[in-house]
Amino acid sequence: MKYNIKSLSNNAKMLIEIKKEIEISKDYNVTNDVAEISFLGNLRLRDGLYLLNGDIVVEGSIPCAKCLKEIDFKTEINVSEKFSNNDSEDTGVTEVWEFKGDEIDIEELLMTELLLNLPFKETCEEDCKGLCKYCGVDLNKTKCSCKKPIDPRFESLLSLLEDTKEV
Ligand SMILES: [Zn+2]
Ligand SMILES: [Zn+2]
Repeated sequence: MKYNIKSLSNNAKMLIEIKKEIEISKDYNVTNDVAEISFLGNLRLRDGLYLLNGDIVVEGSIPCAKCLKEIDFKTEINVSEKFSNNDSEDTGVTEVWEFKGDEIDIEELLMTELLLNLPFKETCEEDCKGLCKYCGVDLNKTKCSCKKPIDPRFESLLSLLEDTKEV
């Protein structure tokens, strides 16, 4: 994802188009290893700064936080960032990505944006029932006969109630 900007003249635009499959499981807890990231935008030189504008689209799937079913997601992130050549004197401009030489590498920026914008803790349905924590079945599909264990203190109370009912 390196771009040579040596021949870029003032105000000229360089088209940037990226489509890449990335592994996000190492840094991010995702069962599906691969997501696809694409970027479409341009790089422009203005007043000594390189301006990157465009849109990142990330597509992939993450497991439902409750039942682990894979949910597809698609996230769009608008990017507007500045790059400054570190070889030149300090321009005093803040919030810039610095680079050396004639190449701008936008990989780090894309990955940072990606990790900041990935969906987190999504559920497949708003009222997903999740998995039974005793037997592990998907409660959206089946019912199981597991019962919630009753606190022994309540158990004696319940039997008391049953006794009075019989009277
Ligand atoms: Zn679910
Ligand atoms: Zn169960």
